[in-house]
Amino acid sequence: MRILKGTGVCGGIAFGKLYLFSKTEKTVKRTHVEDTESEISRFEKAQQEALEQLEALHDKALAEVGEANAMIFEIHQMMLCDEDYLNSIRSIISDQGINAETAVAVTADNFAEMFSSMDDEYMKERAADVKDISERVIGILSGTGNVGTDYSEPVIIAAEDLAPSETVQLDKSKILAFVTEKGSSNSHTSILARTMNIPAVVGVEGLMEGNDGMKDAIVDGGTGTIYIEPDETTVSQMREKREDDIRRREMLDRLKNVNPVTKDGQEILLYANIGTPDDLPLVYANGGQGVGLFRSEFIYLESDHYPTEDEQFAVYKKSLEKMAGKRVVIRTLDIGADKQVDYFDMPKEENPAMGVRAIRICLNRPEIFRTQLRALLRASAYGKLAIMFPMITSVDEVKRIKAIVEDVKSELRSEEIKFDENIELGIMIETPAAAIVSDRLAKEVDFFSVGTNDLTQYTLAIDRQNSEAEKFCDTHHESILRFIKIAADNAHANGIWIGICGELGADISLTEFFLSIGIDELSVSPGKIPELKNKVIETDVTAVKGRVGEYLKY
Ligand code: PEP
Ligand code: MG
Repeated sequence: MRILKGTGVCGGIAFGKLYLFSKTEKTVKRTHVEDTESEISRFEKAQQEALEQLEALHDKALAEVGEANAMIFEIHQMMLCDEDYLNSIRSIISDQGINAETAVAVTADNFAEMFSSMDDEYMKERAADVKDISERVIGILSGTGNVGTDYSEPVIIAAEDLAPSETVQLDKSKILAFVTEKGSSNSHTSILARTMNIPAVVGVEGLMEGNDGMKDAIVDGGTGTIYIEPDETTVSQMREKREDDIRRREMLDRLKNVNPVTKDGQEILLYANIGTPDDLPLVYANGGQGVGLFRSEFIYLESDHYPTEDEQFAVYKKSLEKMAGKRVVIRTLDIGADKQVDYFDMPKEENPAMGVRAIRICLNRPEIFRTQLRALLRASAYGKLAIMFPMITSVDEVKRIKAIVEDVKSELRSEEIKFDENIELGIMIETPAAAIVSDRLAKEVDFFSVGTNDLTQYTLAIDRQNSEAEKFCDTHHESILRFIKIAADNAHANGIWIGICGELGADISLTEFFLSIGIDELSVSPGKIPELKNKVIETDVTAVKGRVGEYLKY
């Protein structure tokens, strides 16, 4: 048995096989082959399997995201049958006597270079596609996976790291747990794991070194432990622990229809954070009263082109209809930093977390912003929508945003398109600047929501992606809690509500503090709602109010 330790970022126990999710560049090893004929047929078998996977992905995309998005898989199938491409691979294998993986990788590089040097924009874009199909074939040949690879049974995904764009493309129904060598608690991949409520461990040293692909493993997301080829004692201990987890879960499930009201009668809204409408059943299943953060950028991450107004409208409308009149706070796109989208063609930045991200992209490129706002406003006619803007630092930004919103509203009025005239507009408090000027910001908007993930990163100057720096990160640092209190006081002095949608909102060791300073709403991963509700109904705010100073170190 091999035991590895990391940081548990989502609790729970998973039993399954370890699936090594590696990036192709790292897995291709050049080897000599004697029997080139059978190497060619090994390649052709992998090509067939890749075509079948693409067919399945096409059907899935067609059903879930429509024809326009599904088309890419048809193009990939065609490219994978291109005679020039196939001949190049076959002749590299037979002429040079090298393995199929290398032949595919070399061909991919040559073709990608050829496409990139073309003048035609459409052909230029095919460079990424030829790499993509080649990675798929190499993944099949080498028994490792790449984005989009289909595994026949549910597996534990083990990876060096996972970008949010990779995570969103994985088939979630086939994932038992995530374990990664890099990553930190508040990276977006960890957040996604919590949204899906599956065990996850990050920062696992030595994970990818042991050649452990398809070996039996157990992941304990609570303690951050991975047992590879576990012995019998460990298996039975972990089974027992899983039973306990299930029993606790059943106890919490009984609170589903109980209102989150404290012992002394203070009501709080318990909302959920989601990335796509597919997460909405989880909101209901866990008794969420609304959606406090819909990270709309995942629509952009899942797409290979700028989502059109109609495509976005369909997603927002569906979400609002499913939530049937309950509040849904949709955040405008927060692309940039770790959430990179190729077709945005963003210049490489030295410090992307402090670069042109989120609202800065929207203000720089108003056409993208206006498309999203039109889609959102049109959808507002179908439920209770609130729009929230990320990464705000100044009153001036908010005024510019509001002017654009007003302009889009009058455009819709003149086209006689209906929308909610009283739609709530809010901002995220996730920069120290916003917290400090929250007295002025509160006069401009209908609500605040504190993004503690970024607020922590920018206050403590600790990159939220950096697992090495994480040990310096005191998430309860009084500076962060003081900023939250400043924002809460300013919100209430100006008659607006304030919520928390960063990961700290789910930290039950802070619930007393949040309730004591009058936080009105907590929005957390759907799976965290029951535990949090349990804490809320156990709390007597009047009794703990005197302890606020202890948290703030006054
Ligand atoms: C935050 O920063 O706390 C937040 C909720 O936004 P994101 O994690 O998507 O940056
Ligand atoms: Mg943020």
